[in-house]
Amino acid sequence: MINPDALAPLLEGDNAPHFKAAAEGRLSVPHCRDCDHHWFPAAHICPKCLGEAVDWVAVSGRATLWSWCEFHRPYFKSLRDKVPYVVVAVTLEEGPQLYGNLVDTAPADLKVGMALEAVFTPAGDAGMVNFRAAQP
Ligand SMILES: [Zn+2]
Repeated sequence: MINPDALAPLLEGDNAPHFKAAAEGRLSVPHCRDCDHHWFPAAHICPKCLGEAVDWVAVSGRATLWSWCEFHRPYFKSLRDKVPYVVVAVTLEEGPQLYGNLVDTAPADLKVGMALEAVFTPAGDAGMVNFRAAQP
């Protein structure tokens, strides 16, 4: 969950490990020890095999661009000074799909399937996972 007034994730609930890891510069998602499946958002059982051997693990941060949207309207007051901004939908190398803000990359340079990499932005006690064009 996100606190819309602070633009920071709430460090509670099932996804808290993801945002705590992001504050430390790591991208972390749930992983099943039984079938090696990764997914996000969190679930207490593996969505692939329904196994309960679930750990949070660090993943590479390498991703490909699946789609994006440029927002021109601030849906929260705290976003008033941020528009326009771009939200990307990516597929991580390990499989999960995530959303994040586009940073350090011109929207005109986006192409479906291009290589992106995770970058981390402090947000209160948590961290946000955002994406930029993969650096050579
Ligand atoms: Zn599994």
